[in-house]
Amino acid sequence: MAIKRGALVGCGFFSRNHLQAWRDLGDRCAIVAVCDLDPAKAEGAALEFGIPAHYASVEEMLDREALDFVDIATTAPSHRAIVEACARHGVGAIVQKPMAPTWKDATALVVAMEQAGRPLMVHENFRFQAPLLRAAECLASGMIGEPTWGRFSFRTGYDIYAGQPYLAEVERFVLLDLGIHVLDVARVLMGEADSVVCRSQSIRDGIRGEDMATVMLGHRGGATSIVDVSYASPQSPDPFPQTLLHVDGRKGSIQLERDFHLIVTTPAGTTSESVAPRASHWMSQQWCLIQDSVVTTQRHWLDCLDRGTEPATSGRDNLKTFALVEASYLAAASGRRESPATV
Ligand code: NAD
Repeated sequence: MAIKRGALVGCGFFSRNHLQAWRDLGDRCAIVAVCDLDPAKAEGAALEFGIPAHYASVEEMLDREALDFVDIATTAPSHRAIVEACARHGVGAIVQKPMAPTWKDATALVVAMEQAGRPLMVHENFRFQAPLLRAAECLASGMIGEPTWGRFSFRTGYDIYAGQPYLAEVERFVLLDLGIHVLDVARVLMGEADSVVCRSQSIRDGIRGEDMATVMLGHRGGATSIVDVSYASPQSPDPFPQTLLHVDGRKGSIQLERDFHLIVTTPAGTTSESVAPRASHWMSQQWCLIQDSVVTTQRHWLDCLDRGTEPATSGRDNLKTFALVEASYLAAASGRRESPATV
């Protein structure tokens, strides 16, 4: 397969993980340009990662470079315009979550790429985390039978504002920033949901949006699940950035506990295994769960480009997760059970 030529847009906090991961995948792709509205950031990333070109304008980069894909690691308000520019230039794109700040923009950017006939994947990396891939594999094997109930939980007091200060300013906060990841995991393990109940809370002083949310999903097969997310849960030791889960099935259960202990109970007995992520030289101990999943996510994108197949987290697929976020906000405001939009 020919080496794919990519360009990265948005050289901020999280983009380092993308660039390191693309470097790990260097036998299959080359990042040939980077772009940031702040020229110093673009130049700094180009210098550090040995990337030949840097730009301050996406349009100029798309005009000048011959690309197989663009990797969009900017914050959500810019995603629609950048994806639409990629569509106009006939270039595929992988875009960070959340796809957009609103449902209108999210659907518009998916439609733009579909009309251009180019692939679009959302960088939804939680379902690609090593422990969650293993939990999904156990569930899919049928060893605990049909799932009947699930709990997917991410609660932390970690200072996320230090690396991402913009999070204190967003009106729709924890559900759109973090809930979107955990709702996606609930979809993958329990199947599609057709009803949503939600309560949200704003706990920390000085933030604009909600930093705690509890969602109850009714799944099409009859199962129930709880997705609870919090950035306002001081604790020690803090499991950040781990998602913990418990799924009951008709024949057993799966529990993912702190520090990557997976406990599976089946009619044959209970087993426990360590499902720790792979650590590589550029990863930190605390972040390697996320960093390893970035490599797996980006590898999946390259696999799909090579094979011409639709990514598991395509724009269209991610709209289903986005619809759960929207229904959660609606349910939190109305106090009633809401139905997600049909995608
Ligand atoms: P950031 O603000 O640190 O970096 C964003 C960069 O994009 C900035 O340097 C900004 O100048 C640049 N930018 C903005 N608009 C642009 C445009 N139109 N053209 C070129 N450059 C532009 O943000 P961040 O914390 O790195 O977050 C980026 C994205 O990554 C967000 O969508 C966030 O939700 C996501 N994120 C994902 C994970 C994950 O685990 N998947 C973790 C953290 C952040």
